Amino acid sequence: MQYDVIVIGSGPGGYVAAIRCAQLGLKTAVIEKYNTFGGTCLNVGCIPSKALLDSSEHYHNAAHSFEAHGISLSNLKVDIKKMIARKDDVINQNTAGITYLFKKNKVESFQGIGSFVDKNTIKITKDDGTSEQITGKNVIIATGSKPTYLPFLPVDKKRIITSTEALNLTEIPKHLIVIGGGVIGLELGSVYARLGSKVSVVEFAKSIIGTMDGGLGKELQRVLKKSVGMEFYTGHKVTGATSKGKTVTVTAENPKGEIISLEGDYCIVAVGRTAYTDNLGLENIGITVEERGKKNHSERSFRNNRPWCIRNWRRCQRCYASAQSRR
Ligand SMILES: Cc1cc2nc3c(=O)[nH]c(=O)nc-3n(C[C@H](O)[C@H](O)[C@H](O)COP(=O)(O)OP(=O)(O)OC[C@H]3O[C@@H](n4cnc5c(N)ncnc54)[C@H](O)[C@@H]3O)c2cc1C
Repeated sequence: MQYDVIVIGSGPGGYVAAIRCAQLGLKTAVIEKYNTFGGTCLNVGCIPSKALLDSSEHYHNAAHSFEAHGISLSNLKVDIKKMIARKDDVINQNTAGITYLFKKNKVESFQGIGSFVDKNTIKITKDDGTSEQITGKNVIIATGSKPTYLPFLPVDKKRIITSTEALNLTEIPKHLIVIGGGVIGLELGSVYARLGSKVSVVEFAKSIIGTMDGGLGKELQRVLKKSVGMEFYTGHKVTGATSKGKTVTVTAENPKGEIISLEGDYCIVAVGRTAYTDNLGLENIGITVEERGKKNHSERSFRNNRPWCIRNWRRCQRCYASAQSRR
């Protein structure tokens, strides 16, 4: 099958590009390796984390603010399984919305892993191992990102987890250790702090949300400490984490060079995200991948030929918009 545009990945980058291309009259296909559309954002990112922030805020207000309004509650408790099930409902409504929009705008969708055979031919390998090929005049890579791992710190996805597992816990941690004081770690940390977990954030930099203005980090740290009791170990370099039974031990070097140790029952590793390039077949179109998954943008072959790319490949900003401007 021949398309004007093939989009690999159906996250916010991919689905918006695909829908707009179709609206502009281009024959468009989207390939998504998971069974639902919407990518990280709708399935394991922005939407589920906001759903849990919403639920946990209700609980926190009921536990701490209602009384001052003259509202008394007895036997207040959290049903975490129900809270997670509601979050899943919110995800389903959103991903179903993308399916609807694809149909409405005549975007054809394929489930499977998309990989380049050459710059215009994409092989789609489905879950059952079968495959098919489609061709496109233009290909947009919108494959997003996955959590970054620390090479010395094994993530077992049970007790030492990433943001993805943290969105699906079946119990409220007693002591949650968050490695990484960026937006994702803080957001999930604050969800569980509101639900009653003790939360300790270990951050290598001197302040949290280090990519933003220093004043913001200071203020946010103050607010999180005061409002939900989160504690912070800034300027601490994590040196390891191990789990045994239900206990996780995290070690870190403090600014004085001393090793400290924290014991909890869960640890979220939230030290950033890496561009997702696995199985994309970039080698078949002459693109090598730099450290942390970014494509080598100096390569002539990439600059002079398609594909286009989106979002987490942000060092190569030739996204859908520029594709349009060259039409
Ligand atoms: C916990 C959390 C909270 C977040 N909260 C926010 C927020 O509040 N606000 C915000 O702006 N951002 C937030 N983000 C970041 C946001 O999710 C990402 O910036 C956004 O999803 C990136 O969109 P994307 O389309 O580039 O990639 P993604 O959403 O990652 O989508 C890429 C898609 O490509 C698919 N794919 C990958 N390789 C292939 C292949 N070879 N073949 C077929 N399909 C493939 C993947 O399965 C995925 O569905 C959050 C992230 C996390 C983890």
